[in-house]
Amino acid sequence: MTAPGCTIVFYHYVRDVEATPFPGIRALSVAGFKAQLDWLQARYDVIDGATFERAILSGSGFDRPTALLTFDDGFVDHYEHVFPLLRDRGLGGIFFLAGATLGSSPMLLNVHKTHFLLSQLGAERFTREVGAALESEGVMSGGIPGAPGGSSAREGIYRYDEAPDVRIKRVLNYEAPYPVAERILSALFERHVGECWAFARDLYLSAPQVREMVQGGMTFGFHTETHPVLSRLDSQAQRLELRQGPRLIGELTGQTTVSFCYPYGFSHTYNADTLRVLEESGYSMAFNTVRREAVIGSEPRYELPRFDTRDLAVDLETYA
Ligand SMILES: [Zn+2]
Repeated sequence: MTAPGCTIVFYHYVRDVEATPFPGIRALSVAGFKAQLDWLQARYDVIDGATFERAILSGSGFDRPTALLTFDDGFVDHYEHVFPLLRDRGLGGIFFLAGATLGSSPMLLNVHKTHFLLSQLGAERFTREVGAALESEGVMSGGIPGAPGGSSAREGIYRYDEAPDVRIKRVLNYEAPYPVAERILSALFERHVGECWAFARDLYLSAPQVREMVQGGMTFGFHTETHPVLSRLDSQAQRLELRQGPRLIGELTGQTTVSFCYPYGFSHTYNADTLRVLEESGYSMAFNTVRREAVIGSEPRYELPRFDTRDLAVDLETYA
């Protein structure tokens, strides 16, 4: 008989978007998060990061089905809305921080500039403006190409997005050279939303917030320096993105072990170089976004699968 699996769930924004200037951000509402906690706790032993890590490193599973909660990108949402709910229920979770968002002058990551610009401008206008900027940079002519029909290898990458979003995100994340994407997104952000640095300061967790969460039983992991698609980088560039993580997170939290989570998380977003660099940098384990249960005892520690919070939504409707 095989041991029960672990259902690992990942979350991004947890906020009531109607109460913010960016109602288009795809977030789980606070009530929705609470309902998910009820649902998960009714079915699983929800274990904390340290307990899960011990199980993965020792290879010994649990007698009952378990669940692990993980939170990507280090949003203030996680301090304001997630942490109090977890603490009140005596639960823990793993929170993944990008190095560039830490410190006194945090950087607004391109992935988040894109989310808020899409909310502000809508997909059509955002796509048009990025296309014009790419053309003036000489990177792309004839505007943003249409989404490929049929069986693209990357189909399903953004399974919850509308087509125009899929198209523009693919161009920005996978096709445009990073320095160009960075320049274009920063200029558009400053024109349409506001100053990147001020926005970043309000969007991401601060060091005191992280420390308070550690005191409350939360665990932290690393999520690269700048949130690139790692498989686009050579091994040296990947090393620069990964190698400081264990030290940075260790100093911030006092943890002696640090886990990792791949930006975007699909299995094509990292490669054999990434796995090597993770090992040489000393990470304890790493999470992707391949949606299935984790089998403790046989799962490679650097490729732990996770479900999107939205994968739970169908069940939630019947539960509510
Ligand atoms: Zn991320």
